[in-house]
Formats: sequence, structure tokens, C-alpha cells
Amino acid sequence: MTRYTLEQIKAAGWLKEANYIDGRWVAADDGRVYGVDDPATEKRIGEIPWVGAAETHRAIDAAQTAFTSWSMTTAGERAGLLGRMAQLVRDNLDILASMLTFEQGKPVAEARNEMKLGADYIQWFAEEARRINGEIVPSPWKDRQILVTREPVGVVGAISPWNFPFSMLSRKIAPALAAGCTIVIKPSEFTPFCGLLYAVLAEKVGIPAGVVNVLTGDGAAVGAELTANPLVRKITFTGSTRVGKLLYKQSADTMKKLSMELGGNAPTIVFDDADLDLAVENAIAGKFRNSGQTCVCTNRFYVQDGIYDAFAERLTERVQQMKVGNGFDDGTEQGPLINQAAVKKVEAHIQDAQSKGGRILAGGKRHALGATFFEPTVIADATPDMVIAHEETFGPVAALFRFKTEREGIDAANSTEFGLAAYFFTRDLARTFRVARAIQSGMIGINAGVITTPEAPFGGVKDSGIGREGSTHGIEDYLNLKYLSLGGL
Ligand code: NAD
Repeated sequence: MTRYTLEQIKAAGWLKEANYIDGRWVAADDGRVYGVDDPATEKRIGEIPWVGAAETHRAIDAAQTAFTSWSMTTAGERAGLLGRMAQLVRDNLDILASMLTFEQGKPVAEARNEMKLGADYIQWFAEEARRINGEIVPSPWKDRQILVTREPVGVVGAISPWNFPFSMLSRKIAPALAAGCTIVIKPSEFTPFCGLLYAVLAEKVGIPAGVVNVLTGDGAAVGAELTANPLVRKITFTGSTRVGKLLYKQSADTMKKLSMELGGNAPTIVFDDADLDLAVENAIAGKFRNSGQTCVCTNRFYVQDGIYDAFAERLTERVQQMKVGNGFDDGTEQGPLINQAAVKKVEAHIQDAQSKGGRILAGGKRHALGATFFEPTVIADATPDMVIAHEETFGPVAALFRFKTEREGIDAANSTEFGLAAYFFTRDLARTFRVARAIQSGMIGINAGVITTPEAPFGGVKDSGIGREGSTHGIEDYLNLKYLSLGGL
């Protein structure tokens, strides 16, 4: 694949250092900007406007005005525009992947996969636009008919995180537009360019002004306006549970629909009868992808007594072979962490584990490359009193807990307030169904470590959130049901 320089990406018009409101590229009202750095080199890659409530208010007004005509377009028209957007991403995968690596740090091959996944989500919802069907229900009255229609909810506010800055937004923007909604987007300040990219794409494919608006700036100020403004009928948020709960509370007064894709603390259970090779390879992909900064990453490995030592040894061997480096370097399997705060959190979790008897089998410290690079780490003898057992580490650390019986494994996996993803490895069919039923989680990978795809519903239970993204269900949150009782027949 071809790698592009920052200058090439900027010259091609993909990286925009402005906000997009009502079809115009604009600066913050007071001219304030915020610097965005490459996590691998800690060098400045660009500046974004730092906007607040006033600009957000204007973007919402523009989206409300555009809603009147956009909601009246045909499903075929909306599907066509979204299909063109997906194709545009596919036609430019390499240059867009380079942009993603510059701002987020992940290896270019992973960045390319993320871009492709985003295009797949857009394509999926382009197709779903034409399947927003109504219903005719058997009526209890002889002279009446009951009709149920589905209508777009109105203006949507979308707030997204930095770990998958393109694909996380694709499963918000695409269903919103497919349903006939308009949208105001606020990407993470650490990775704003993949969010602003949606405005570039919307402009290029000819989506009308006001339908897609993208703001960068103060999360608290933009979020306060998006939640308080009665014109916004739905908030879709992906990010931490802390901010998700805040937005949930703030949305109460205006009674908005909500989708919350929040934090995880995924368990992987490896049973004695697991295929060891499969478990180790999937553990690597499921844990160390994106340097462990994935909401569905395994945070806790529960390994049964009989296979524990073999699994620990094989995982350690494999982790020690992993190549850490700049995402643009050939063969890099693990890039940098997003920033110094992320590194400090990883260090704190490791120190806590060590102080409580955890044994470092691999890694354990900052990488010799400096910046925010961290050694892929394996810790054995993890115990429930360690911070890593309760909190999402969001870094390249695999903590191995030992358990004896199936019941113990299940109870340990469920001993968290989170419930996003879980994984287990077994070759026993009866156990597969027993354990799948017992695990409290929105998604379960069985003998599989990477499970995200547009065809399947993505989302969690408990403190991991509400609502589902992707699949045939992912558009429902952008629609209201309307019941028509047709009398006098
Ligand atoms: P974060 O909650 O700190 O930030 C997410 C977004 O919210 C950013 O755009 C940020 O600017 C904005 N924000 C911050 N404070 C705000 C406020 N007061 N009001 C409104 N918006 C505000 O999360 P993050 O660090 O960007 O992302 C990592 C977290 O996201 C992890 O917990 C991870 O598990 C979670 N995540 C979940 C999923 C999922 O699908 N469930 C996917 C990816 C990431």
C-alpha cells in the first residue's frame, strides 16, 4: 500500500482545518484554535477551530432547516448519495489511511482496515435506507385500518471518541442520513480530521448544505448545547461511561432518544479444552490491536488451571515477537498510545498489579522508542483486588487470572459493572451454549477474538450503554413509529 505525506494529504484537500456549518467552512467565532499532534512523533500536524455553544447553536439551526427538505427526499436518493460516499472512501483508502495514522498512530494496515470498515458501514446503511418499511396491523374495528409508519426523528447530535475516529462515526452518520435525519457531529479533539472528513465527503458527493455539520472544540460546551437544545431529538455518543452518564442526565429535560456506546472491561475465558493455537492468536488480535485502545479489547484473561501455564508461555513468546514502531514503518504491529495521559494510566495499572503480587512475563514499561510507545505486556498471577480487574486499562497489557471450575470462570467474567464484549474458547458444544447464556454482555466472541462487522448489532449492557449500532437494528434509534388509525372504511 502507498503511504502519503502530510503535505500530500493536505494538498489533496482531505485534511481540513476548519469547521463545516450549513455548507460553509468556518473558523471559531473568536478565532481560537487547538493544536493536534502526531502521537508517534509528538509533532504538530494541524490546528482546528475551538468552538463553543454559539457555533453549536447555529449548526443545530442549520440542521433543523435542512431537515425539512432532506426528510422529504426519497430513500433511493439518500441511498444513492451514501453509496457514492462509501465508494469515495474505497477509492481513496491509502491516502485516508495515512491521514488516520498521522492523527491516531495505529499502523497503516490497521488504519486501512478501519477506513474500509467505515465504508462498509456506510454502504450497509445506504442499502437499509430502502428497507424502512411500515406495517399494516389486523384491526379490532371492522371499519378501520391500523397503519404504522417510521419517520426520521429529526436533528441528531453525535459525539465520538479518538480510538476509531472514522469507523465509529460511520455507524452514526450513515443510519441518521439513511433515515432522513440531519446531523451535528463533534469528533474527539485528539483525532478531529477523520471527523471533519465526513464534511469533505458530504460536500464532494453533493449532500445539501445543513444536512451534515461538523464542529471541533470544547466537548463540555458543545455537549451542553447539543443536549439542552430542544431541536436536537437524538444524541448518539461513543466514549467513556463517565461522559455518557453526564450526557444522559443532561438530555433528560428535553426527553431525547439516546444511544450510548460506552466503556468496556472485556473478559476472555480460556477453558482447558480450548484450541491453544486459536486462543493465543485471537488473544493477540483481540488484545493488542490498536495498542489495546479498543472498547472491545480483552482486559481480563481468565485461564483455567489445566491450560494456564501453556497459555501464559505461548502468549508471552508471541508478545515478545511483536514489533513496536511508528505506524508508517514496515512490519509495525503496535503503534504508540494516544497521549501521555494514556501511558500514565497503563503504568499505574501495572504498578498496582505488581504491588499486589502480579508477575511481569513480558514488557512492563515504556518502550525505548520514547514518546508514547509502550512495550506489549503480559502479567501473570492477576487477582480480583487489582485495579486492572475493575477498570478498563485501554493499553497493551494482558492480565492473566487463574480459575478452576466453569462456574468460577463465568462468575469472574461477570464481576464487573461493564458488559460490552466477552470472549471464550472451548471445543465443547454444550459448554458453548451454557457459557454464552450465562455471560452478561452485549456481544460474545466464541473461539473468535475480532467480531465487529456491519451485519451484526454492536453494543453493550449494564454500564457499557444502551442501543445498538450496525445490523438491521442500527437504524431504529433514528426513527420514530407513528400509528395511524384510519376510520370510516
Ligand atoms: P471520552 O468520553 O473522554 O470522549 C469522547 C468524546 O466526548 C470526545 O469527543 C470528547 O471531546 C467528548 N467529551 C468530553 N467531555 C464531554 C462533555 N462533558 N460533554 C460532551 N462531550 C464531551 O472518551 P475517549 O477517551 O475519547 O474514548 C475512549 C472511551 O470510549 C473508552 O472508554 C472506550 O471504551 C469508549 N469506546 C466505546 C466504544 C463502544 O462502541 N462502546 C467504542 C469506542 C470507544
